[in-house]
Amino acid sequence: MLTDTHCHLDMLKDIEGSLARAEAHGVTRIVTIGIDLPSSRKAVKLAEQYDFVWATVGIHPHEAKTLDDSTYTELEELGKHPRVVAIGEIGLDFYRDFSPKQIQFAAFKRQINLAQKIGKPIIIHCREAISETWKVLEETNGFTCGGIWHCFPGDTILAKQCIKAGFYISIPGIVTFPKAQRLQEVTKNIPLGWLLLETDAPFLAPVPKRGKPNEPAFLRYTAEKVAELKNISLEEVALTTTENAKRVLGLEEA
Ligand SMILES: [Zn+2]
Ligand SMILES: [Zn+2]
Repeated sequence: MLTDTHCHLDMLKDIEGSLARAEAHGVTRIVTIGIDLPSSRKAVKLAEQYDFVWATVGIHPHEAKTLDDSTYTELEELGKHPRVVAIGEIGLDFYRDFSPKQIQFAAFKRQINLAQKIGKPIIIHCREAISETWKVLEETNGFTCGGIWHCFPGDTILAKQCIKAGFYISIPGIVTFPKAQRLQEVTKNIPLGWLLLETDAPFLAPVPKRGKPNEPAFLRYTAEKVAELKNISLEEVALTTTENAKRVLGLEEA
């Protein structure tokens, strides 16, 4: 019983088939993530359609410039939906810089405020912007929302600061890559009670599927790698990371 806490079902070629394969591989809970208004709407629809799928709604830093007042208003409405378990993914991405930095900062802060207003946790996306992301979370009291640092980009020191602030660390398929030593160290050093598993499908497929389109079923390879790194059983990884996901996101069976 694995939980994929971060994927983009709406971007998969064959959603039905992917969900069936996920179930066959023991991935029995899936959180599908919004990156803009259309994908947030789709995420909510999928969560209404399938009782093992939950949604998040939010504007990704790449799309930050689309967060105008009308988008914010609809996001707030969607955010209150009972199957919406978090606001995200939100954050800063200075690697691609698809939206100007000042606009990314504004959209990030505004959506943290939204999460605080409606009382839901946040899903952080961060690339090449660790210190800036941390600063925003401090300035906005964003840690009070609770949440997840997805596709964790930092080292063990940052991971320890995160869990001290009450944020969970989400481990992507990258952990299976031979060169991902920093993420492997984080996985070894952070207690299992603070770790989550994610595919970020269709991106970042784990070894041995690396380079192929990712899908929730491949979460199993990431879980096996975490079990190997922590020298514990796959069952313990599955059980504990699922309990963690239920705790932070409040996943209620429909
Ligand atoms: Zn992301
Ligand atoms: Zn994502």
